[in-house]
Amino acid sequence: MRRTESPPVASITLKSPKITGIEVKKVEWEIQDCSPGSGMVPTYNPGTSHGMSLFMTRLFTDAGVIGEYPLHTDITSVSDYLLGRDVLKREEVWNDLKFVTGVQSAGVDILLWDIAGKLSDMSVSQLLGGYRDRLPAYASTMNGGIAGLDGGLSTPESYADFAQRCSEIGYQAFKIHPYPRPVIQDHVDVMLALGERVGGEMDLMLDAFAYYPTFADALKVGRACDEAGFFWIEDPYFEGATEPGHSRLREYISTPLLQGETLRGLSSKMNLLVTGATDFIRGQVHGEGITGTMKLAAAAEAVGADIEIHGSGPAQRHAMSAIGNSNYYEMVWVHPDVQCLQTTPDIFGEGYDDGLEAVDSDGMVPVPDGPGMGVEWNWDAIDHMTTVTKVVD
Ligand SMILES: [Mg+2]
Repeated sequence: MRRTESPPVASITLKSPKITGIEVKKVEWEIQDCSPGSGMVPTYNPGTSHGMSLFMTRLFTDAGVIGEYPLHTDITSVSDYLLGRDVLKREEVWNDLKFVTGVQSAGVDILLWDIAGKLSDMSVSQLLGGYRDRLPAYASTMNGGIAGLDGGLSTPESYADFAQRCSEIGYQAFKIHPYPRPVIQDHVDVMLALGERVGGEMDLMLDAFAYYPTFADALKVGRACDEAGFFWIEDPYFEGATEPGHSRLREYISTPLLQGETLRGLSSKMNLLVTGATDFIRGQVHGEGITGTMKLAAAAEAVGADIEIHGSGPAQRHAMSAIGNSNYYEMVWVHPDVQCLQTTPDIFGEGYDDGLEAVDSDGMVPVPDGPGMGVEWNWDAIDHMTTVTKVVD
């Protein structure tokens, strides 16, 4: 037999780009007609305003590439660790920071993925093995209006009206955060009104954000969700994510539970799944980073569970695009009268948007396809909203 030579293997020079500097701009803005409600979820409240902030962060490297992303926290407190660090060793950095710095480690991880994409001229989705370029989204409402309002998600009817509007926009799923009403029957009536109006055409979800104080309240609302055919109930009661309480709740209601948002750490989250306290598990790129989210997705897949990613943003889209066992992108927070996104849309340049109208007629959002996070930042707007700038190098 004729022996064939293997083609020569291209010689690869492994580069080790290092972090040379960090810049953090604290960006602040006001949302009109909102005030903080339960779980700090904004509540529609005409005539008030709600201050929001984020930390627009840039990680400079000696390769010239800059990691850029709006983070939930200021990472300059770990600058001594980061300066001089190899930007490609994401696993090492993730492991070093995972317990000592909370959400800061997630922020650093997101920036390192952006850098890796830019260095390789691939999107983060491509680096992760992403297989879809559009994602189904659910409209995730703000808290409803305060008592005494007419409309504005303050009545069961206004929730149903808004769900119908979202359906007409294209959304295939609709999630509510409970409105600030002390009478539990009001909540029951919302679930039933939603089921009656759009139950046959949308997946419906309730995010109680651990709002209900008692098992009895969770049970009453949970039974209404059963009757209305809800897709999931998120963090139903007490502190959320407690076991065995939620295992017991699952014995009484048939609607699947989604929990994990109030926990940190992969083992804590997996414990909810394996002890039967939840059906879906919550993944958070701003909690575990993209690296941790992918680990959690794989662990959940191994026990036959789906991971649902928290919140809106390019990093969430990239991660979800590469996870087979994940169903919906969260468009948070939307409302019929006011828009209150966690990240102000002003910071994005052309080509990226979150918000009520940021889905196509199938209710889908695109996955950015440029290098790294694949989004342009509007630095004029960012500088205009910046109140504090920190630079470490
Ligand atoms: Mg939630």
